[in-house]
Amino acid sequence: MTIIHNLGFPRIGVDRELKRAQEAYWAGHSDQAALREAGRALRARHWEIQARAGMAAVPVGDFAWYDQILEWTATLGAVPARFGQPDDEPVSLDTLFRMARGRAPSGTPAAACEMTKWFDTNYHYIVPELHPGQSYRIAREDLFEQVAEAQALGHRTKPVIPGPLSWLWLGKGDAYARGAADEAKLELLPALLTAYEQVLRRLARLGVEWVQIDEPILGLELPDAWRAAFAGIYGRLSAQGVRVLLATYFQGLEPSLDVLPDLPVHGLHIDLVRAPGQLEGVLARLRADQVLSLGLIDGRNVWRTDLDAAQALADRAREQIGERLWLAPSCSLLHVPIDLAREAGMDTELKGWLSFAVQKLEELRLLGALVAGAPGPDDLRAAAVQRAAARARRDSPRIHRGDVAGRLLEADSLSRERAPFARRIERQHARLGLPSYPTTTIGSFPQTPEIRALRRDWRGGSISDAAYDKAIREEIERVIRFQEEIGLDVLVHGEPERNDMVEYFGELLDGFAFTEHGWVQSYGSRCVKPPLIYGDVARLAPMTVAWSAYAQSLTDRPVKGMLTGPVTILQWSFVRDDQPRALTCRQIALALRDEVLDLEQAGVRVIQIDEPAFREGLPLRRTDWPAYLDWAVDCFRLSTSGVREDTQIHTHMCYSEFNDIIEAIARMDADVITIETSRSNMELLDAFEEFSYPNDIGPGVYDIHSPNVPREDWMVDLMRRAAQRLPAGRLWVNPDCGLKTRAWPETRAALQSMVRAAHTLRAAA
Ligand code: GLN
Ligand code: ZN
Repeated sequence: MTIIHNLGFPRIGVDRELKRAQEAYWAGHSDQAALREAGRALRARHWEIQARAGMAAVPVGDFAWYDQILEWTATLGAVPARFGQPDDEPVSLDTLFRMARGRAPSGTPAAACEMTKWFDTNYHYIVPELHPGQSYRIAREDLFEQVAEAQALGHRTKPVIPGPLSWLWLGKGDAYARGAADEAKLELLPALLTAYEQVLRRLARLGVEWVQIDEPILGLELPDAWRAAFAGIYGRLSAQGVRVLLATYFQGLEPSLDVLPDLPVHGLHIDLVRAPGQLEGVLARLRADQVLSLGLIDGRNVWRTDLDAAQALADRAREQIGERLWLAPSCSLLHVPIDLAREAGMDTELKGWLSFAVQKLEELRLLGALVAGAPGPDDLRAAAVQRAAARARRDSPRIHRGDVAGRLLEADSLSRERAPFARRIERQHARLGLPSYPTTTIGSFPQTPEIRALRRDWRGGSISDAAYDKAIREEIERVIRFQEEIGLDVLVHGEPERNDMVEYFGELLDGFAFTEHGWVQSYGSRCVKPPLIYGDVARLAPMTVAWSAYAQSLTDRPVKGMLTGPVTILQWSFVRDDQPRALTCRQIALALRDEVLDLEQAGVRVIQIDEPAFREGLPLRRTDWPAYLDWAVDCFRLSTSGVREDTQIHTHMCYSEFNDIIEAIARMDADVITIETSRSNMELLDAFEEFSYPNDIGPGVYDIHSPNVPREDWMVDLMRRAAQRLPAGRLWVNPDCGLKTRAWPETRAALQSMVRAAHTLRAAA
């Protein structure tokens, strides 16, 4: 038999039990015993699933009360001083929650730790805070207790912990330079290693044979000092009485192959879904006593495995290393939904193409049997079904639309150029008649319980289309009147018809499907249900024109049409894996281009195409950035460049670091960009010291995530700072994101204050 194992299982539960338990506990509706019991039950269920699927040992440590990196930070006792953690006491669950959320049922509230994206996934981790001289100790027992808990249930365990180098890389601290690469962080290693050694020895005493230590950074372009640190560290960690499987994923090891021959670990895991090309290089450097685990089942996406391709890679490795071959998913299954069997409403053909966590383990078992050369009759039958489904998917008319293929050919010759900005903006000014420092918002207005109920009732069929239509129109009218009353210059319709900005378009476009229970953890108790893009994308009919045209008909002021951009739609979906992402993105861009032109035709003079996920799409390695930015910018321009010179195109981006891609953002050539900056206190402005942004820009002047009403003088001050770096004539005044999570009273007060700030700026100009 081939050894099969799993790197991690989704922790939330198929009915989001963890979310419910967390939120009940935070709200004071349940106690810690109930929360702990919910966690215990989930772990037991998930271990059982994995053991039954034939995993040689079950992962322990992949469970987390909030986030696995936070769990580890707390286990190491690395609690920032503001949380008042005594050095000689265990870190409590409430302190862990205070680090994540700022508050918990017990303990003094304090500023939460920062949260950021986990590599190029949509999962977010809590950033460890580092400081010189930081000390580490074993400050939480959960990992050891959970090992014992699994053992008591009769499982062999393989604890999973973040590696010291990745943990440091992901951490930050005032004393360390921005960015992960600061070598000064490495001075923390000696103290950190001592704590790791203690952890490993405790695991050895519990009878653990293998521990999986995750070092996803090994696939990045590491500075020499970081790469050089691996050999020494793993020399020590491998000598603590447990065998060490060093796990890498999300990238190939090509930039770090030279590290391998000196890496004294007992085994290595590599991600062959993302980077099949690394196999030969790794095989050539593997030592004769090392295990190699191949990640062959995609832990990041929902499609069934191409068994033949996976088996070919496994066979190649087996030929060289024989029984030292292990098989696994590419990475933790944290990033995929749990169980396809729950999708009762989905058609069987589409279901046949998909695989969620439970099914992926079954695929892994099957692959193991095939690679071992010992498939039973059931295995052969399952493999035949899988191959037939793969063939059917390849040839399905549901996936390949001739009209889309034709449009893609034409797209090559469609212009992405508009007239020069100077000329466009002049004509737009003439048409729109806006004052200096024009005011606008980002699109959504408060989504009240009434609006949510309205959409729910309409979807559930309990109110008619006509009644729904009427209610949405009334809401649009209210929002338009409100904006006129407080004196905004460029209005929006408020997006009352949208729950989620990607789901809304996905449901109206061909090529998309939706799950009922396909939840994936985004952070803490927050889960998302990404759409599936399974086939060629095409617009079946106008998607937003009726609402936008209606909104525009109510007022003389310009109302912005509001679309979600191609990159963001791609980035927040599970994307088909049978063609390059760039191509799928281009199909979406073409559909949006048609929508843009229809909006323009309907008399909409300003159109905004939101790209909040533009930066998220960046590849992990800098060398891959230019290629991504080229196609991402091209798709945006394909969507937008068909319009007249005097139609104004806006885009919006938020909550990421833009400074290092500002030139690509400029190449998108939107007439106006509204961009988040207020949380970082206009850090964005630094980008304009070296780079002169050519078009109009609205640096968000207040943080919509806070219910506090921003002060007028504060906003004026921010805009004056912006005016030192950018020509005042090209500045807009706007909040930094949509207002849908806010309530009306604070929205009214905040926007009134913002409009006053704009008047002050104009008067002084
Ligand atoms: N137009 C969207 C809104 O206002 C933009 C949301 C976003 O940036 N995430 O809600
Ligand atoms: Zn935003």
